Amino acid sequence: MTTHVFHRTPERPAIATRARGIEITDAEGKTYIDSSGGAAVSCIGHGDPRVVEAIAKQAATVEYAHTGAFTSEPAEALAERLCRSTTLPLDKVFIVGSGSEAVETAVKMARGYHLARGDEGRHRVIARRQSYHGNTLGALARGGHVARRTPFLPMMPEALLVDPCFAYRHALPGETPEAYGLRAADSLEAEILRLGPDTVSAFLAETVVGATTGAVPPVPGYFRRIREICDRYGILMISDEVMCGVNRCGPFFAIEEDGAAPDIVTLGKGMGGGYQPIAAAMCTAAVHDAYSDAGRSFVNGHTYMAHPVACAAALAVQDVIRDDGLAARVAPMGEKLRQRLESRFGNHPNVGDIRGRGLFQAIEIVADRDDKTPFAASDGMAGRIFDACRDLGLLVYPGSGTVDGIRGDHLLVAPPYNVTEAQIDTIVARLGDGVDAGLAQVG
Ligand code: PLP
Repeated sequence: MTTHVFHRTPERPAIATRARGIEITDAEGKTYIDSSGGAAVSCIGHGDPRVVEAIAKQAATVEYAHTGAFTSEPAEALAERLCRSTTLPLDKVFIVGSGSEAVETAVKMARGYHLARGDEGRHRVIARRQSYHGNTLGALARGGHVARRTPFLPMMPEALLVDPCFAYRHALPGETPEAYGLRAADSLEAEILRLGPDTVSAFLAETVVGATTGAVPPVPGYFRRIREICDRYGILMISDEVMCGVNRCGPFFAIEEDGAAPDIVTLGKGMGGGYQPIAAAMCTAAVHDAYSDAGRSFVNGHTYMAHPVACAAALAVQDVIRDDGLAARVAPMGEKLRQRLESRFGNHPNVGDIRGRGLFQAIEIVADRDDKTPFAASDGMAGRIFDACRDLGLLVYPGSGTVDGIRGDHLLVAPPYNVTEAQIDTIVARLGDGVDAGLAQVG
């Protein structure tokens, strides 16, 4: 069959014809367990009639009204709900259409904050070598995902990247997690001093790292130290929770567990649960009030920002999470998932690490478990295992990241919050078979 869609891969992928609960069926009639909801997007499962109804109702009421002239009821209600859902002191929500836009919005929001306060020199954004913040040029420029950045390097300003917080790869032998976390965080201070504190606007980091290295949580104390450093130099702290936020790790925002309150937080995937393209940058009253006190607008309009139908869908998704008590399921079901992964892969010679928080878990595949030697890029291990799992009727999210010259292959499992124990068993059993099938191809 010919296709006029410019797909991201040379081959046309399978056509999805039906999605219900945790399953997706293709045009050939094959059904897959969607164990990662794409890239941790699908948080309530597919095809929930309550969300479908909310979308239809909003489309029939006000499908679009330009935000230069109007707000909408679902946008207002959604923003209020998000602010009430987190224990962080976040007070305003700027709603956009994708995680990349949310990150760019956050970066511009921070710059505008400094401008409003007369701090015109602050324009630099520091991030980490182990990071992915989106694929638009502005978001890509901030992150450290080597493979996604490399082809476009000549088109981007140089990224300012400091140490990651990745204990599996970077903690020294005998170093406690706490000591490692402080050492990793202090690389931010060194970079601020090198650049000149008065030139730095913000520090940007994923709380639990997603695409580059696969569900890597921070060690205890790391983000508290980051917060201290940001405060010391008047720098805004931006937490990118596009993947790990909205209860994916348990609390509404993962960073609520880390004892550090960011100035700006981005969210996306679990916000709309895949039902509509929607994301946001939330900020504290202090960030917002800097604008209003100075009588400044935030010049960052997008045609489809705060789209009423997308907002209605996201609000309905948040209603489902609340009404079905799904947030409270994430910790216990995450624990079950973790136990199953530990018992299937805990002694596997090619699984070097099992990590994550809540229903955001990953396994790292290595050639040698003892010395953590990764597979060569030419082995394409994560992709092989993804293909093997797909043949077995399981969708996982594969990734191959390179940090400080060390590459890694990982598989991410991030099922919807209403996943059952029986489904977790099937996911881990198929993943086990897929891992072994992928490894057998390389020999
Ligand atoms: N930030 C993080 C942490 C992400 O994981 C992603 C996407 O994977 C993005 C930003 C970009 O989001 P989007 O693909 O919706 O533009």
